Amino acid sequence: PDFTALGLNEPLLRALQELRYEQPTAIQAQVVPLVLAGQDIAGQAPTGSGKTAAYGLPLLQQLDTAQDAVQALVLVPARELALQVRDELKRLGKFLPNLRVAAFYGGHSFQEETRSLKQAPHVVVATPGRLFDHLDRRTIVPNKLQLLVIDETDKLLELKFQEALANIVQRLPRRRQTLLFSATMPEKVLELVRKNLTRPRHVQA
Ligand code: AMP
Repeated sequence: PDFTALGLNEPLLRALQELRYEQPTAIQAQVVPLVLAGQDIAGQAPTGSGKTAAYGLPLLQQLDTAQDAVQALVLVPARELALQVRDELKRLGKFLPNLRVAAFYGGHSFQEETRSLKQAPHVVVATPGRLFDHLDRRTIVPNKLQLLVIDETDKLLELKFQEALANIVQRLPRRRQTLLFSATMPEKVLELVRKNLTRPRHVQA
């Protein structure tokens, strides 16, 4: 199958062409149509499988960039990954008018991040600790959030982020779509799937 068969729209197909992504990877071919159909996903996929675009493409397609509100949130375990995911989303979303993607992570100025929030980003990519601070201080208001992605979940749990994760999810709208990705699916991750996803489809790269 090629990308046109997955139900993606013109601006995304154009970006894929520019990036020379010619064929969807296995995880992309499975995940994109399911997300566009509104399903929750528990995906087992390692780095290098193309998982970022697997959730990123349908995430971008579901945004209304005319609306000034945070509509999607991607939780990641570390600063480096936050920047990587932000950059990939910007590349894939290059032809979406006015798209704003922001990355928030610990270890640098909260003030600066807050200033950059004068106009709400459509997508926030963040580490759990820092995101929780923003929710707590109401510098990010998630009441229009439609999609939550939890990426590299096994690593998030290794880094003891489960409490921050639980506190974050508690503050998000209940009516939302949730996509969870993990390189491995130990019991702890499956427990998170049971607690936070609704009738998830399990897919594997
Ligand atoms: P990821 O697993 O999301 O970290 O992606 C691994 C690498 O594969 C990244 O450098 C992507 O830019 C690249 N990539 C993702 N999807 C495709 C595709 N369909 N065709 C070619 N390269 C891709």
